Amino acid sequence: MRLLLVEDDHMLASGLLGQLKREGFSVDWAPTLKEAATLGKHEDYAAAILDLGLPDGSGLDLLRQWRSGKKDLPVLILTARATWQEKVGGLKAGADDYLAKPFQTEELIARINTILRRSQGRSEAIVKAGGFELDENRQALKLPNGDECSLTGTEFRLLRCIMSRPGQIFSKEQLKDQLYGFDENPGDNVIEAYILRLRKLVGTDAIVTRRGQGYLFNDS
Ligand code: CA
Repeated sequence: MRLLLVEDDHMLASGLLGQLKREGFSVDWAPTLKEAATLGKHEDYAAAILDLGLPDGSGLDLLRQWRSGKKDLPVLILTARATWQEKVGGLKAGADDYLAKPFQTEELIARINTILRRSQGRSEAIVKAGGFELDENRQALKLPNGDECSLTGTEFRLLRCIMSRPGQIFSKEQLKDQLYGFDENPGDNVIEAYILRLRKLVGTDAIVTRRGQGYLFNDS
């Protein structure tokens, strides 16, 4: 799943980028309000982590702009502004969660996973589809026969994407967008190669190819 990180503190941002990637997210980083607004307009994010004090304005303005434009991606505000009044203001502006700096990365990741689950209408950290169960905490897949296999980071990200919306067709471009940041340029066949590897685990019936359109996870 692809996240937008809006943060002007370069050191904090680069640390977070690495940690979020290890957790199975692909992350685009915007150090200014202007860049965040542009990315938010053109890219498809599962959630955003939003700093408030940015060099060209307040993150709250961007949040209000998103909400008034009916952009409903989950947003977690991550800021040094920590009074209860500021928290209430952030939540009222449309944030889904609010975490004050300094913070523990584990808490941030747990909160991000929670707002993502909620936005997908799930209550537990397991994505279920077609008799398969994907455990987000352990990045492991349970097969219908009860066997468990561990996944590489990319395998996990790809499977989580298609299993979260079973029956929906994802084009190769959409999957690439979800798996890689805009500064990464994977080869054209990389999605095909991962689909091939995943089919060895889940079988050829579970991941269906729609010729010329893309792939879908079969929930029947
Ligand atoms: Ca800041």
